[in-house]
Amino acid sequence: MNSKPKIGVYVCHCGINISKTVDVDAVTEYASQLPGVKVARNYSYMCSDPGQLLIKEDIKKQGLNRVVVASCSPRMHELTFRKALAEAGLNPYYLEMANLREQCSWVHADREEATAKAKKIVASAVAKVRLLEPLEEKEVEVEPATLIIGGGIAGIQAALDIANAGYKVFLVEKTPSLGGKMSKLDKTFPTLDCSACILTPKMVDVASHPNIELMTYSQVEEVTGYVGNFQVKVRKKARFVDVDKCTGCGICGEECRLAGRIPNEFDEGMGKRGAIYLPFPQAVPAKYTIDPERCLFLTRGKCGKSPKCVDACPAGAIDFEQKDEIVEFKVGAIIVATGYDVFDATRKPEYGYGQYKNVLTALELERLVSASGPTGGQVVLGEGESAFVPKEIAFIQCVGSRDKSVGNEYCSRVCCMYTAKLAHLVKEKIPEANVRVYYMDVRAFGKGFEEFYDRVRREGVRYIRGNPSEAFKRGDKLVIKAEDTLTAKTLEDEVDLVVLSVGLEPRKDAREIIDLLRLSQSADKFYLEAHPKLAPVDTATDGVYLAGCAQGPKDIPDTVAQAKGAASSALILLSSGKVKVQAQVSSVDEATCRGCGYCVEICPYGAIELVTVNRFGHKVTVARVNEALCKGCGACAAGCLSGSIQQKSFKDSQILPQIAALGVKQ
Ligand SMILES: Cc1cc2nc3c(=O)[nH]c(=O)nc-3n(C[C@H](O)[C@H](O)[C@H](O)COP(=O)(O)OP(=O)(O)OC[C@H]3O[C@@H](n4cnc5c(N)ncnc54)[C@H](O)[C@@H]3O)c2cc1C
Repeated sequence: MNSKPKIGVYVCHCGINISKTVDVDAVTEYASQLPGVKVARNYSYMCSDPGQLLIKEDIKKQGLNRVVVASCSPRMHELTFRKALAEAGLNPYYLEMANLREQCSWVHADREEATAKAKKIVASAVAKVRLLEPLEEKEVEVEPATLIIGGGIAGIQAALDIANAGYKVFLVEKTPSLGGKMSKLDKTFPTLDCSACILTPKMVDVASHPNIELMTYSQVEEVTGYVGNFQVKVRKKARFVDVDKCTGCGICGEECRLAGRIPNEFDEGMGKRGAIYLPFPQAVPAKYTIDPERCLFLTRGKCGKSPKCVDACPAGAIDFEQKDEIVEFKVGAIIVATGYDVFDATRKPEYGYGQYKNVLTALELERLVSASGPTGGQVVLGEGESAFVPKEIAFIQCVGSRDKSVGNEYCSRVCCMYTAKLAHLVKEKIPEANVRVYYMDVRAFGKGFEEFYDRVRREGVRYIRGNPSEAFKRGDKLVIKAEDTLTAKTLEDEVDLVVLSVGLEPRKDAREIIDLLRLSQSADKFYLEAHPKLAPVDTATDGVYLAGCAQGPKDIPDTVAQAKGAASSALILLSSGKVKVQAQVSSVDEATCRGCGYCVEICPYGAIELVTVNRFGHKVTVARVNEALCKGCGACAAGCLSGSIQQKSFKDSQILPQIAALGVKQ
């Protein structure tokens, strides 16, 4: 270092968290004798205002040029103390933290041994701090626009909040319409609001908002760049319908040769559509789409003499020449709101789903009870002469949730309440029906949930505590085998309809977004937030936020609340106009780099690229770090085969003396 070190060491008691096990007076006295240390003090809470003031005054009055704070993990308070240094006029990167709490007092019981270890930790921090260099925090401009991926209620809410604040939103939805799963629901618990009535106005607002560019039937193909400056490529898939001309009149759908012959995804395959279709009556945009995998003309090149939709469309909107379109734009922030899949009930073959027609999933029952569903809201099973109204109905809870055998240990949080809702709706439509629910325990934790559960039981729905082992066919009936764990009796219950309360799972295509945005997954495979309590909508990628069931199972109120949280995080970034990027980044010594590219492979943030430079008249390949993308994880520095990459504040020349001071042989 250029100037003589004048180091201040500040030992924190952390209440009694550290001082109960470590003799802080002895550590302070020891620190005061270390080379270069000008002042050493201890205080009950160094992170408090008076604690920070001690440091600031010493910097100013004693001319300190380096500071060691011996307290907790740098994850807790490194930023607090960096700020204190900056406020006292010192470069904030002249700070080193010695972790006496997590790495010493919390993990040791013997006071003497803990104190001896604390002294070593402080000595090693002092050895390093004298070698630290000043770093500069750079700022980059923020593009005042947001990309939202997923047009369910989470994406819709986030889009409206950001657009209403005056910022541009690009909303990309994979399917032909906005709405997500909420658009499939009939009523919503616990208030029994009509789902479409509260959702459709928001869908229409999105489509007509001047600040929102809606891209349905589209997919994000590439995201490059970094916080504040993401470059996005979206594929708008060909609908083979000119959306500017299509009026949504529906004549094409009626005329299609395959009308009423293709299972409609919106009705969970129970209703039928044609090869040209509107997914559901309230779809937004109300524009028809041709299914390229089913359309006779697109798959066989022939549809009768000529495609009937072309002849029928009064607006001349059908366009078989249409091609996918790639659009590119720049955004400052990204919100991932891609939602969930319901558990595939065939993975629990003991319940007979896919084998017996009268075993349905709860989402299928949602479509049956819905007025816009395949039966116009009638709970009817079978077709034609064999159609009948089920009178004995059983729900089985926790299918695919809280179940280690299928790898889902978590609770899906919505099934107890949607079952209560569906049981109520079934009783409303078939008052004489006997409805029972087989459950492990009922989780009615939200506002109004317990009251709703009580109401449903008062309406005559029976709750039987027991997890059925199987459902099998006996004559026309299905038989549920279970043990009522409250009476310890084994049951064989004959029913007409079994409804499986399927859990919520990460989407099968979740990997696509992980690869695009370098997200992580939690143990349950939903996208991982930066911190479960303090940063629940942030991710490890700066400028990328999570909303709704993409992050984990949740109901609509929680989804909307989280979407608002994600929108406000994006808005904070956009409205600040600039963002600071990490200063402790890696840098490459281009004179020694061999350009092997190993660092490019191991960098988890895609922050390193190979470039060609001129070295003594020869063109050579070397690695170069994009400082805006680098997160300072150090993987490249550790992996570099020629030692050409060093991470600022963690250079070999800084770390090796630190290790030596611990008494570790190298
Ligand atoms: C049977 C059942 C009944 C329910 N009943 C209720 C109820 O009564 N009350 C209640 O509060 N909650 C209920 N829920 C929960 C409710 O469905 C969720 O809370 C809500 O749908 C979550 O919304 P979301 O936007 O996070 O996800 P989703 O609704 O899943 O929306 C995600 C959207 O993202 C799109 N998408 C996915 N991947 C991509 C991609 N890569 N690119 C572009 N777009 C993409 C999808 O197509 C979809 O439109 C119920 C759930 C089930 C299964």
